Amino acid sequence: KKYLEECSERKKLYNEVIELKGNIRVFCRCRPLKQDESTSVVEFDSSQENELQVTCSDSSRKLFKFDHVFRPEDNQEAIFAQTLPIVTSVLDGYNVCIFAYGQTGTGKTYTMEGTPENRGVNYRTLDELFRISNERSSIMRYELFVSMLEVYNEKIRDLLVENSNQPVKKLEIKQSAEGTQEVPGLVEARVYGTDEVWGLLSLGSRVRSVGSTNANEQSSRSHCLLRVTVMGENLVSGQRTRSQLWLVDLAGSERVGRIEVDGDRLKESQFINKSLSALGDVISALASKTSHVPYRNSKLTHILQSSLGGDCKTLMFVQISPNVADLGETLCSLNFASRVRGVEHGPARRQT
Ligand code: ADP
Repeated sequence: KKYLEECSERKKLYNEVIELKGNIRVFCRCRPLKQDESTSVVEFDSSQENELQVTCSDSSRKLFKFDHVFRPEDNQEAIFAQTLPIVTSVLDGYNVCIFAYGQTGTGKTYTMEGTPENRGVNYRTLDELFRISNERSSIMRYELFVSMLEVYNEKIRDLLVENSNQPVKKLEIKQSAEGTQEVPGLVEARVYGTDEVWGLLSLGSRVRSVGSTNANEQSSRSHCLLRVTVMGENLVSGQRTRSQLWLVDLAGSERVGRIEVDGDRLKESQFINKSLSALGDVISALASKTSHVPYRNSKLTHILQSSLGGDCKTLMFVQISPNVADLGETLCSLNFASRVRGVEHGPARRQT
């Protein structure tokens, strides 16, 4: 009983905070300079955890503020520590969406997927969900299911089906009787532990790169979505909940010059632009609380509709490069993220 009281107290407190701050967060993460890069245009103020400054080509400086700013030296643990309360709220019945947005090569996949030595948000999240489920097992029974899909050129592909020798099954979004968006035919794997999850995530990454000559190139041009469905049953009250957590590694946001690309590449980049701006439009409509939210403008936003808005929680990682050669794209990403958050950047703090 005490536990339940604590739970409801925590939920109340949390809701008050959410009410106060809105339920959209933007975190910025700047990757380290690479060996062949020498000049950083991004600076951090040691006393301000949520600010960064960018030196523009005319030497002016622009100040950007987010809910948190991660620096090149911040590791995967530091990132996850801030992400934890948002992802685990799926166990309390909330729908949650997390995105990694940015130019190719800025660390979107590193943040979400990570490497076997430095695992990212996806794996750490599932690990934590299993841990908490066990901890609560005398009061709550949870069942976890995982799906993984890719949106490429506005087509949906199941990443948990080894389809190299099979024709690709056409997947479409349908509205269920409860009004939620479903993808009939998509594999939903029940998962019981983290080892199994790592196997599934690796299968998904492998399937994602099949059929392309260059795995990295292909993956930078598609959105990769990991969906965790949580079915909860309160063993005391009998109340059941179903909630979803989406962990999304978006396609690279860089603009491709018309001259550089052939027909297919141009088509791809138009699809990417369209879906990323649709995502920006949806989140900024939610942030500004306008009545019409244009979910139907892309497959990406349509599929996520039930997990964006309402009392769902949204977190966007805007990933940036500190390298001077990437300045244009860095500014574009930071401006996009500021627009999404509904807050424009201000002038730089005066240098002392
Ligand atoms: P993206 O998914 O945005 O295209 P990647 O995640 O593939 O970018 O990152 C590009 C490269 O930079 C990878 O080799 C990755 O391991 C490395 N990298 C990115 N961010 C970091 C970081 N914060 N710390 C260490 N290495 C990073």
